Amino acid sequence: MEGLMMDYPLTLTHIFERVARYYPRQEVVTRLPDRSLHRYTYADFHSRALRLASALASLGVSRGDRVATFCWNHFRHLELYFAVPVLGAVLHTLNIRLHPSQLAYIANHAEDSVLFFDASLAPLVERFRGELKTVRRFVWVPDTGQASPDWALDYEELLASGHESFPLPSLDEREAAAMCYTSGTTGEPKGVVYSHRAIVLHSFAEAMGSVFGLNDSDVVMPVVPMFHANAWGLPFTCVMVGAKQVFPGPHLNPESLLELVEGERVTVTAGVPTIWLGILAALDREPGKYDVSSLRVIPCGGSAAPRAMIEGFEKRHGITVLHAWGMTETTPLGTAAVLRPWMRGWSEEEKLSVRETQGAPVPFVEVKALDEEGREVPWDGKTMGELVVRGPWVAGAYYRNPEASAEAFTPDGWFRTGDIVTISPEGYIRITDRAKDLVKSGGEWISSQELENALMGHPAVLEAAVIGVPHPRWQERPLAVVKLKEGASASPEELREFLAPRFPKWWLPDAFVFVDEIPKTSVGKFQKRALREQYKDYRLEG
Ligand code: AMP
Repeated sequence: MEGLMMDYPLTLTHIFERVARYYPRQEVVTRLPDRSLHRYTYADFHSRALRLASALASLGVSRGDRVATFCWNHFRHLELYFAVPVLGAVLHTLNIRLHPSQLAYIANHAEDSVLFFDASLAPLVERFRGELKTVRRFVWVPDTGQASPDWALDYEELLASGHESFPLPSLDEREAAAMCYTSGTTGEPKGVVYSHRAIVLHSFAEAMGSVFGLNDSDVVMPVVPMFHANAWGLPFTCVMVGAKQVFPGPHLNPESLLELVEGERVTVTAGVPTIWLGILAALDREPGKYDVSSLRVIPCGGSAAPRAMIEGFEKRHGITVLHAWGMTETTPLGTAAVLRPWMRGWSEEEKLSVRETQGAPVPFVEVKALDEEGREVPWDGKTMGELVVRGPWVAGAYYRNPEASAEAFTPDGWFRTGDIVTISPEGYIRITDRAKDLVKSGGEWISSQELENALMGHPAVLEAAVIGVPHPRWQERPLAVVKLKEGASASPEELREFLAPRFPKWWLPDAFVFVDEIPKTSVGKFQKRALREQYKDYRLEG
């Protein structure tokens, strides 16, 4: 039809230029490895990122080239988050917690041309540097203040060689801006490529009042790493809305984070539940030690947020935990457990029953759940099925991986998440498990996640992971691996009794083992696979 709107591209370039023009004085704060705080403004960020983009162009980085980062959350990583995409190149964040052989595989598969790495992480880079086939240049990010080795350029020297008057290219919104690999439990890691358009639309959705509600009065501390799913897109969203950002660097222990919340008056901080379990325990141990009154909301996801944790923050400290769900393949935000207006008058218990779900889809994300025959299951809050999703920031394929791509989509093009869910009549999804984590007992399914969440509601329990172990009669039975809080004690009988009123008898774990540490994945989730391996010969009574 004639007389339509302009076809204006949705690119990160606009967000980048806008923050310098309209929010030049807003701050970005970073905790460095020596614990000191670095501060500068978005005006500084913008001029430095422009110089970096120009220096990258001089190094020969051009449209579509992959530029890898191996960095903690800090201001220089933020510079890379923008300098690389606005140049038309592709920011490839490497997960520093992966095994060296996986890192080499990923960087080679992506054909990264330049690798930026934190000086403090140099020993890890040494472990896979020799296996990299396509990296032409290494750049030392001097977070420790030490001088670079002879095989790497120095970030600050590189940046000094660039110039601010560098003209940025006009980009198409469908060009790639960033990429990230997801470490599946089977097979090699799979690459997900984010377009400018996807990231921009995702930022709009994330900022919405009825999602995270981010604006320029917020002080946002992304604890979720910038090397995992773009720190949930927060660095992009914050720059778009002009919010102040606080980066914790490598210091992720509760005390360091709480000091930053108090000192910088953080209003929003986001990360996986294990981080907040630690913070809640610290707050409960010494109430009043830290002033956390500035905190408005903690978006929490990556694995299930236990109900008791959501309740504990709310009741004892007046802080809202906003449970959300997403995946590397969904940029990552898909759903958020925000209450609808008619629910706000409900009882605390009823509200908690909504807020503990993974939430309802944000605008432009569609969800449904399919049974084993691929039929849609009813939205009755009871029937389990595999969650499938689609939307403008959901991956359309894996990068150069036709086999994985063929398996990942339904015949009509929905992305199969591998998460087993129920969907309530109001559209809130509840993840009962990853398909592979369900405990299959006598042909019936037991949700390991629901048992874990309930166990983490026991006052003595800090963390709990439930796995299926082989059983002579029932094929598999649940075993609970429990880490108690410092100085606390509990017996298996006591924990069993605690669970008994909430679950059918046959759901209750057959055994409890107490451990000092539950192994975690590279992104802080319980490592069920390692636990299953460790306890595969555990003998349960027949
Ligand atoms: P990743 O791509 O590493 O971020 O992992 C995505 C997976 O994490 C999802 O498919 C879920 O299995 C899990 N996940 C993410 N958010 C949640 C949540 N709020 N509750 C339970 N599981 C979650």
